[in-house]
Amino acid sequence: MTHCAILPLLDDDEREFALGDYEGATARWCPGCGDHSILTAVEKLLVAEQLKPEQTVFVSGIGCSSRFPHYLKTYGFHGLHGRALPVATGVKLHRPDLDVFVVMGDGDCCSIGAAHWIHAIRYNIHMVAMLLDNSIYGLTKKQTSPTTPQGFKTNTQPFGSFLPPLNPLTTTLGTTNVSFVAQTAEWVPAHLYATLRAAYHHPGFSFVRILQRCPMYTQGMYEEAVKNPGSIELLIHDDGVVAPELDKIYKNRATHDPSDLDSARRLAEDSTRIRLGLFYRNKGRARYDLLRKPPKVTSSERIALLNQELDHYAV
Ligand code: SF4
Repeated sequence: MTHCAILPLLDDDEREFALGDYEGATARWCPGCGDHSILTAVEKLLVAEQLKPEQTVFVSGIGCSSRFPHYLKTYGFHGLHGRALPVATGVKLHRPDLDVFVVMGDGDCCSIGAAHWIHAIRYNIHMVAMLLDNSIYGLTKKQTSPTTPQGFKTNTQPFGSFLPPLNPLTTTLGTTNVSFVAQTAEWVPAHLYATLRAAYHHPGFSFVRILQRCPMYTQGMYEEAVKNPGSIELLIHDDGVVAPELDKIYKNRATHDPSDLDSARRLAEDSTRIRLGLFYRNKGRARYDLLRKPPKVTSSERIALLNQELDHYAV
């Protein structure tokens, strides 16, 4: 399904965009759902960067979080389960002038869409990919997802999830040509916003895992982390995610240079604590969108070539 807003055709560069210019339909997520605060952070980013609504595209797959494009007055594509990344790739390759954001859930990205995820990392096309990770299939009512913690009871594995969860950070950091990996949490809005801003400014494929509460089906999963900021370790560095507002509250910090991939992998592998921050950034990675050389033919020339080719099969 696609949708688009009717946007005023003003002579543009004089325009100044306010929050209302980006607000779409009223969000219908459950009360207390972490998706609400992610939407707020994204809207704040759009205002801060003054992104033109008609030059901005949000692409999603299927899941609770994938309703995102409906709630913004930009262009949007609410597509098929697991297929947000190929759609976003097509958009960006054909319209490199657009700002492209991808919104995926954990089932969407890490299960049915996992092959697309791996190749999107390697292709390193300029876009922001957000993984809204609530560790459950919420839309289909509490089924085990790839990131559900082992032993957590769900409707598909009522005696507890059998397997250790997939780690989206180590998967991303282990993929060839990775260029930007960060983790943040929706209940730390200043960190969430600073992370999204850093991701937006990265010239390549930015992958941001956002830990997200689902009060409907994973109630209490992050209760300790929310109540006790000391249980979270912030990764800090001058080149990392900078959110001075957190200095007085989040005092458990570790210095991590985001150019150090080996260290990033070690930190991501260690599941003894929740770490928020920029794990890795490399602005020099190869980018498919810059390297590819599409044939310079018009649409009508392409159709003529296709017809010529098909004529070989005429009987
Ligand atoms: Fe949010 Fe969970 Fe409700 Fe889905 S089911 S809208 S993830 S609280």
